Amino acid sequence: MKTELLLVKDIKKDAEKLARAAELIKGGQLVALPTETVYGLGANALDEAAVKRIYQVKGRPLDNPLIIHIADAMQLREYCRDVPPEADWLAERFWPGPLTMILRKKSIIPDFVSAGLDTVAVRCPDHPVALEIIRLAGVPIAAPSANISGSPSPTEAGHVVSDLGGKIRAIVDGGRCRVGLESTIIDLSVKPFAILRPGGITPEQIEKVIGPVILDSVLLSAFKEDKPRAPGMKYRHYAPRAQVVILRGNTVDAARYFNENGGENAAVLCFDGEEKFFDAGRILAYGKEGDSAAQARNLFSGLRELDRGRPAVIYARMPKETKGVGLAVANRLLKAAGFNVIEV
Ligand code: AMP
Ligand code: MG
Repeated sequence: MKTELLLVKDIKKDAEKLARAAELIKGGQLVALPTETVYGLGANALDEAAVKRIYQVKGRPLDNPLIIHIADAMQLREYCRDVPPEADWLAERFWPGPLTMILRKKSIIPDFVSAGLDTVAVRCPDHPVALEIIRLAGVPIAAPSANISGSPSPTEAGHVVSDLGGKIRAIVDGGRCRVGLESTIIDLSVKPFAILRPGGITPEQIEKVIGPVILDSVLLSAFKEDKPRAPGMKYRHYAPRAQVVILRGNTVDAARYFNENGGENAAVLCFDGEEKFFDAGRILAYGKEGDSAAQARNLFSGLRELDRGRPAVIYARMPKETKGVGLAVANRLLKAAGFNVIEV
């Protein structure tokens, strides 16, 4: 299949391209589109056949439900029922933005979207291109990350081309994603409310609006564990071809560990300014040690970039700070590494 590339720099000047993307989606096709978090692989969420193709193209397990994207919080009740007031408060405060809410679904949403669950994940993205395409299509857009299942999520159109080029009808190029990690997911269909995935909106921000929430136990166990967990394939997500190993500790000790044990075919993903300590052929910095926002923006593209050199192992520095957006960065890194952490 030929994949159309639609470069959108300005939503007014490039209105024709946005109209084209919306028309393809309305017609049941798959179109990758930029959001502020990562690129999404979009399809009409009300079209069961189109939604089914998302899973096929990504190689996504059928039991992993999709997020639907809407243009306006007013649409929440068209697709969800028993919506608690907390959903309105969160939408008011954080939408459009990187927060996904799990709510009980109405039957208009096909079971394929929710992987058979009676809940559905909903988000209003903070990106003018995504919002305009949703508006023009006039339907909610189901869109998981536009990558092959299990690989690092795409944060620029080129990543989508390399994963899905030739397999989908169009890719809308809207530049690099501002956040760089997937949305925060909060489950509002259960009490107490629970954060299932950390992201650009932090637990602290959420608690200011709706009071105490719990962090999903899987997420917590990853952080409570000081000892490295055996790397298990079933935990690998967001992972490049290379094995990822996390080096936790200070710069000098991490560099010493790498220089003694890294070997020929190893690459390093480090913090800004650490490059000179590592005796590595391939090394890339992904942000200052304390700058979680920069790390979030550069993590996936950094992993992809290093992977292009085909290293056997990527040693990655993990921030000590796991509050705020740092929680999301640490979560993605731990998963990419299959929880393989070396305390230096
Ligand atoms: P992605 O769009 O690739 O970031 O993945 C969407 C994430 O949302 C997946 O990890 C799903 O497990 C989660 N998700 C989507 N719908 C639901 C739901 N109804 N209940 C719980 N988690 C969900
Ligand atoms: Mg994904």
